[in-house]
Amino acid sequence: MNKSIEDIWKEIVDNLCSALGQEVVNLWIKPLNPVSFENNIFTVSVPNVFFSQWLEKNHHKEIEEMLAKIYSTQVTLAYKIQRDISPIVRTIEKTPVHSNTPMPSVIKDQINPKFTFERFVVGSSNRFATASAEAVAKNPGKQFNPLFIYGGVGLGKTHLLHAIGNSLKKGFPNFRILYVTCEKFASDFIEAIRFQDKMPVFKNKYRNLDCLLIDDIQFLVGKDSSQEEFFNLFNTLKDNGKQIVIASDRPQDKLEVEERLMSRFKWGNTVDIQKPDLETRIAILRKKAEEEQFSVPDDIVLFIAKKIKSNIRELEGSLLRVTSFIKFTNTPFTLDTVKTILKDVGDPDETITVTIDKIQETVANEYNLTVKDLKGKKRSAQIALPRQIAMYLARTMIVDISTTDIGDAFGGRDHTTVMHACNKIKLKLESDAYFVALINKIIKEIKTED
Ligand code: ADP
Ligand code: MG
Repeated sequence: MNKSIEDIWKEIVDNLCSALGQEVVNLWIKPLNPVSFENNIFTVSVPNVFFSQWLEKNHHKEIEEMLAKIYSTQVTLAYKIQRDISPIVRTIEKTPVHSNTPMPSVIKDQINPKFTFERFVVGSSNRFATASAEAVAKNPGKQFNPLFIYGGVGLGKTHLLHAIGNSLKKGFPNFRILYVTCEKFASDFIEAIRFQDKMPVFKNKYRNLDCLLIDDIQFLVGKDSSQEEFFNLFNTLKDNGKQIVIASDRPQDKLEVEERLMSRFKWGNTVDIQKPDLETRIAILRKKAEEEQFSVPDDIVLFIAKKIKSNIRELEGSLLRVTSFIKFTNTPFTLDTVKTILKDVGDPDETITVTIDKIQETVANEYNLTVKDLKGKKRSAQIALPRQIAMYLARTMIVDISTTDIGDAFGGRDHTTVMHACNKIKLKLESDAYFVALINKIIKEIKTED
């Protein structure tokens, strides 16, 4: 065998590159160097123990097989650790929070100036979450620490984190605030372990903060070493009265993280963001249209708001699709055009066609009444409320229905009666959590196919 170990290693790296892709190779393989080949042992140097563990777990056999092919004999792969990082980590752990380590004068905080409280539309679905976020922005590190915000995709969690950041920047100009996704935190941490000289930078970045805004914490699930590091970070910040705000796509109990971490996530205040109701969706669309300085007719706003119910990002995206189409093609702004543009968007549960009959039947059932009662003339409270609920649900659940149509379906009532009913229910929904639960239950039943 005339090839040098360098040539042989290069061959292996090339092979791995086609199998694993350039990115993985750059991250994990490039920092390795061949050291020796003696007694059928091929030794490579690795920056630290973390690398050797990773390799052993993932590609050890593969590399040994490649080596065996090249040398035409059994080869053992061995690792030589350049330096062990553990002593370094330990000394850093001991350094006090506000050490004399020079700090960068500006931390790249990644806070998006567009995501402010002013631009956040408040409705029943996010009122409590917004109020808590505002309280944190006014009184960081005091009342709600940590603030834990959870909710489904596209409902405004990230927006709220940035809004807190933007507000804090104004109210506390000297604060060190960092917005970071959990993924970025984990990759920063891994980077710090891989290259030990980066560890102080990592600690400095995270431990000297006045406010940490960490997004999508669910990405900690399954990442044990990052969980451990986050646990330490959490304690350090919390012990020093620094504010922590966490956003998650699920509540703490559903996060499969270590028990001790989960219980800490419950220490402060937990708020959820629900799917927005129709009125909020309308208000959001109006606000976005206004921000774009584009006038959108009411019937079109209503159409979009009814079509997209469960994701504000999608709601925004649909409006943008419509307005850019109208702008660039100079097409008249009609409902028909909008229907064509948005024919393929909408929530999956939209495929179940909700009829006014189904709504009336379900509501009547819930209140032990008959559909006839709902359509009839009686105005006693036992009948009036269910009737108003049914009207409200018809207006919010059926895409193409006018208040006049609804009035007709309820024994020929006037459309102003329908509007009055809808407003009344809306108000009740804003103030009565039990009522919200009841309405949600009815909605679910309406959506179940017989
Ligand atoms: P999440 O982080 O919950 O997935 P985002 O915060 O990224 O959701 O929100 C998605 C989009 O919807 C963003 O552009 C955001 O500005 C917008 N948005 C969400 N909620 C609201 C709201 N209440 N008012 C105005 N815009 C909102
Ligand atoms: Mg988000």
